[in-house]
Amino acid sequence: MSKTVKQFETEVQQLLDLVIHSLYSNRDIFLRELVSNASDAIDKARFESHSNAAIIEGDAEWKIKLIPDKEAGTLTIRDNGVGMTREEVEKNIGTIAHSGTKAFIKGLKEQNVAEHPELIGQFGVGFYASFMVADRVTLVTRRAGHEKSAGVRWESAGDGSYTVEECTKATRGTEITLHLKDEMKEYLDEWKIRSIVKKYSDYVQYPVCMDVTRTEVPKGVNGEEIEGAGTIEKTTEETLNSMKAIWTRPKSEITEEEYEEFYKHVSHDFDKPLKTIHYAAEGVSEFRALLYLPSHKPFDLFSPERRKGIQLYVKRVFITDNCEGLVPDYLRFVKGVVDSSDLPLNVSREILQEDVQIKRIQKNLVTKVLSTLAEMKEKEPEQYLAFYREFGPVLKEGVHFDYANREKLQELVLFESTKTEAGQFASLKEYAERMPEGQQEIYYITGTDRSALEQSPHLEIFRAKGYEVLFLTDPVDEWVVQGITEYGGKKLKAADRGDLSLESEEEKKEKEAQKEEATKRYQGLLDLIKEKLSGHVKEVRLSSRLTDSACCLVADEYGLNANMERILRAMNQ
Ligand code: ADP
Ligand code: MG
Repeated sequence: MSKTVKQFETEVQQLLDLVIHSLYSNRDIFLRELVSNASDAIDKARFESHSNAAIIEGDAEWKIKLIPDKEAGTLTIRDNGVGMTREEVEKNIGTIAHSGTKAFIKGLKEQNVAEHPELIGQFGVGFYASFMVADRVTLVTRRAGHEKSAGVRWESAGDGSYTVEECTKATRGTEITLHLKDEMKEYLDEWKIRSIVKKYSDYVQYPVCMDVTRTEVPKGVNGEEIEGAGTIEKTTEETLNSMKAIWTRPKSEITEEEYEEFYKHVSHDFDKPLKTIHYAAEGVSEFRALLYLPSHKPFDLFSPERRKGIQLYVKRVFITDNCEGLVPDYLRFVKGVVDSSDLPLNVSREILQEDVQIKRIQKNLVTKVLSTLAEMKEKEPEQYLAFYREFGPVLKEGVHFDYANREKLQELVLFESTKTEAGQFASLKEYAERMPEGQQEIYYITGTDRSALEQSPHLEIFRAKGYEVLFLTDPVDEWVVQGITEYGGKKLKAADRGDLSLESEEEKKEKEAQKEEATKRYQGLLDLIKEKLSGHVKEVRLSSRLTDSACCLVADEYGLNANMERILRAMNQ
């Protein structure tokens, strides 16, 4: 068959425009798409070679090669994968939105082949990302195991038509040459190419190589410079990607050092991680996660524009490190990698946020992190404390924002209290367990620091009764007590509010009687004080809650508590 000109199969011009101009927000990813396709093609060849060794043709060194040619203005991506027949080229490349890779997986599933390679493509548009940077694309390919003369040459300017013709190709696999647009020549630059490969394709499991030329001053046998020798050019082939996607390996094969090294790599932290969480989720959503809890909080933990700590990959290919929906804000300290096998590669950030898969992943990640923390608290309390001292205030935000996980979170929050040393904490569970007989509520007092709160006259009655009072000194604690209104059937009550049930019924009756009598006796005095303080207080009452101090200020039952009032006053309300 000779050269033919064909129109693209689908109603494509518009679709093509869409892909080229709007699907991707970032041009660099054309290379990610082509490298991913090459990796898929090698996977297929390798898979096929298990049952048909002949397709190896003596070359089992799987490799993806990038060849920038400054003179020609072209960038070529070459692989020694499975290649394509003419029919496959027309179907897979000539039809936009037809994914040969997806069809391949479907075929295997229909034949009930259980084990199949983890392929990246499934959307059928990645290839067309080439036209973002190239005004002409030439693809030369030969199906592995076919005659050398069975090569196919395909070419298109991305304008609605393409040509196909037979050709001879000595090696199996595919070679795609991008004739770069004038303003896209930066993609010929060695460092530009390196950085894109490093960012998006670092963990692709085959080497992505490039010839690199350096000028050197020739050296003598002892390494000494030879005068007047000038310089020589030396070209070596370098592998640009690390291929070390440790999260894809079984836990049992990964050493502590490898986990640490990877943590430093993803987090840019010099310390060791406090905790490593590595697992594979199966079922509705399939992904692998390698997460870390850092040992120390970063300086920008509370700045809103900070980056998220988790990188999202799809089958080892980097998608983004700023995926909004991946973990909720109150877990923003978690670092690491999530690698999904059922998300499409070709998604924009905007689409990702709405993606149901992302929501499923998030749900799973949250459950895992919270259960890890619960286990740490139970089995490694020292480590949990170390974690809590750094990230407790952030975790507590969850009580307010994550209603679905409130029960779990209320087991994880800790507070200082009248029964802990400064800097030590009590959980609500511990509080509840050591409540004396007769105590009906859980008490807390809010303020800015512990030592000031310890002086509060409000605490006298609680000390006298042996009741513990939690010190809530974090700004976020106001939200926490709005979120946790009761624990184990006991209401959380502010120790400086008016509606406390500190006594049993009998004690109450007796006190009421005494108080009534005393009030009668001291009514004159109370009226006098109230008159003198008019405009400053609403009411003057005899109190039974003080043991040492002469008087104290209390908030109305439905009024604002003292701390809230202070905050509002500071805000000039
Ligand atoms: P996807 O990768 O999502 O399937 P693409 O547009 O990236 O979509 O590629 C379309 C199809 O073209 C692939 O599914 C595959 O069948 C074929 N293809 C693309 N690149 C290559 C290649 N380097 N070698 C062999 N086949 C390829
Ligand atoms: Mg693809």
